[in-house]
Amino acid sequence: MKTFNVPIIYRSPLISAIKQHRKQQDRMKKDFSPTLLDFGPVRILLARHFGFCYGVENAIEIAFKTIDENEGKRIFLLSEMIHNPQVNSDLLSRGVRFLMDTSGKQLIPWEDLRSDDIVIIPAFGTTLEIEARLQAIGITPLQYNTTCPFVERVWNKAEQIAAREYTVIVHGKPKHEETRATFSHSRFHTPTVVVKDMEETHRLAEYIHGRKPAEQFYEEFKGQYSEGFDVTRHLQRVGVVNQTTMLASETQAIADYIKQAIIEKFGLADDQVAAHFADTRDTLCYATNDNQTAVTGMLEATADLAIVVGGYNSSNTSHLVELCEEKLPTYFISSEEKLLSANEILHWDFHHHQELHSTGYLPGKEVVTLLLTSGASCPDAVVEGVIRKLLGFYGLEEKLEEKAAAFS
Ligand code: SF4
Repeated sequence: MKTFNVPIIYRSPLISAIKQHRKQQDRMKKDFSPTLLDFGPVRILLARHFGFCYGVENAIEIAFKTIDENEGKRIFLLSEMIHNPQVNSDLLSRGVRFLMDTSGKQLIPWEDLRSDDIVIIPAFGTTLEIEARLQAIGITPLQYNTTCPFVERVWNKAEQIAAREYTVIVHGKPKHEETRATFSHSRFHTPTVVVKDMEETHRLAEYIHGRKPAEQFYEEFKGQYSEGFDVTRHLQRVGVVNQTTMLASETQAIADYIKQAIIEKFGLADDQVAAHFADTRDTLCYATNDNQTAVTGMLEATADLAIVVGGYNSSNTSHLVELCEEKLPTYFISSEEKLLSANEILHWDFHHHQELHSTGYLPGKEVVTLLLTSGASCPDAVVEGVIRKLLGFYGLEEKLEEKAAAFS
């Protein structure tokens, strides 16, 4: 896979050495067991895959190169380039400004833009409507484009099934930048509707069965269907694609549920299913797959707690948290600063969108074992910072360099 020029401040010698070591031992990526970092009183099991993915490194390389090569120009990002606070604040400190927040709320009016401004498209991609808006201002919309190729692959998949006259159902968070972009691209080609979870899928399936009055759909799914969507006609031949960072098991369950509803509605035999349900396979990206599978592998080990590091608004990170929560106490933190002491921690409750203050997160045992992973937009340097801080609580900070040397 291509390597990128990512600022050294985001790298960690320890994590790079571990990743390189694991890669050499398992080139085919078949072993999803974690790496044990045994420091005596604290044992850290580090997930096999975590941290910056292809799309994030690609975006960071393009953004910093654009800044370096365009001194004196005004540089804007449509919104956060990736969902990581450190990277976004570094970009802000280099003079980059965000046009919108992550929910699409305008922070700088379009009217303030000039044709000689630079506007960078984030890794999530953007909508066709925004591209047209930039074009109208005189800015070439895709000149500084960091859209991840794995997101574009989903758009291509939607376009392919649209060409065969299937409606597209997008499994994603309706307000997430990537889902808004995918919805925009898909609806350009075919009727499209977004479902955010299984509960919404159940409700959508009621319309497939015709069990609910059609008019109700337009209120129930307000803002989530394309213009002209006819619920009585456009749910007879469908395909499911997803926001690339959703939970793989949930996407599969949603696709299976829709498929079953269609089979029942039309009384289909096996050889008739394809005429009503497009085989999209999953449209998750490799990084989401690897990171989620690595968490599943990590959870097979016995441990006292899990720490997941990443931006609080990061979708892929919250899904790693969700997996860990099923098995053991889990703390979602954005950096080592959230580890206030060996007793106190600030951590994100993504279910209720609030930061919590908890005590006693590290059990008072002779040996504490914790699982550690991070999202696809989290720099390895932050994960090293977390390890360093934890070791500091046990007076073991100097052991870190020894460990890095052991993996080199
Ligand atoms: S998580 Fe996947 S789709 Fe998203 S930026 Fe990374 S590689 Fe691309």
